[in-house]
Amino acid sequence: QRTPVTVIGLGDMGRALAGAFLDGGHPTTVWNRTASRAEALAARGATTAATAAEAVAASPLTVVCLLDHDAVREVLGPVAGDLRGRTLVNLTNGTPRQARENAGWAAEHGADYVDGGIMAVPPMIGRPEALVLYSGSPTAFAAHERTLGALGTATHLGTDPGLAALYDLALLSAMYGMFGGFFHALALTRSEKIPAAEFTPLVVSWLGAMMTSLPEMARAVDSGDHPATGSNLGMQAAAYVNLLDASREQGVATGLVEPMRALLHRGVAAGHGGDDLSRLVELLRTNP
Ligand code: NDP
Repeated sequence: QRTPVTVIGLGDMGRALAGAFLDGGHPTTVWNRTASRAEALAARGATTAATAAEAVAASPLTVVCLLDHDAVREVLGPVAGDLRGRTLVNLTNGTPRQARENAGWAAEHGADYVDGGIMAVPPMIGRPEALVLYSGSPTAFAAHERTLGALGTATHLGTDPGLAALYDLALLSAMYGMFGGFFHALALTRSEKIPAAEFTPLVVSWLGAMMTSLPEMARAVDSGDHPATGSNLGMQAAAYVNLLDASREQGVATGLVEPMRALLHRGVAAGHGGDDLSRLVELLRTNP
């Protein structure tokens, strides 16, 4: 008999999570504010709880996946007493501070708390390429690692409950940086009616080539030593101005690309023009 699991929150992600637990053979209890969203899962064998309290009481492990931190507080606040002696795994996107706050709140009510960040979209859930990052209670994670493995590859980052959110948001910031650059590139090329589908293969291979420099940059960031490897910061600051000028001339808004210009010029002004671009990381800290 597999461990029974409760899933609270049946949006696009919560339904995928509950579906993966069902596929893994776990007796699965579900609850959602809008009850109709549980129907398809019930048809697949899930037990539908009438209230969140009933849902929590049904399993030693409750997985929560709601829109945001406020929704988590709203739904779990009234059922705190029902969580005593159980494990709460919160896969709602949030900040490290919110995760630490939740962990403190759970501890006050005698519950083990694990926070998580889902690095996947719903159709990936249940497959090994769905990475789910966890942090918080190591004993609760160890006790439920196999069950959580039904969702994808489970990685525990450490005891500090805020770590999963920090990693998650850092990875998302890298992703949005890439999307932002890509969207700007397409706006530029489309200003000359070049079809996006024609231009995009070049972007994919260019980004692939540039990505190979990330591990070397990481070593520079860790060591604090940023020797230029043929593309110094001063040269890039000069070239970047062309990117902005061309955008304006082509009728493309510069909002997505302006901040990098400001940062490059700050690097030059601080005397780092001869260094590698990786020097910019330390200029981003507001409380060094
Ligand atoms: P959806 O918008 O599809 O679902 C939101 C869920 O939150 C619904 O179950 C909704 O209930 C519930 N909810 C919202 N507000 C409240 C409230 N005040 N009280 C009770 N329930 C509430 O979002 P997703 O399922 O896509 O995302 C859920 C979480 O997973 C988010 O934190 C998201 O960032 C994270 N995530 C999502 C990914 C994705 O690709 N979808 C990827 C990685 C993480 P109701 O049905 O009643 O409206």
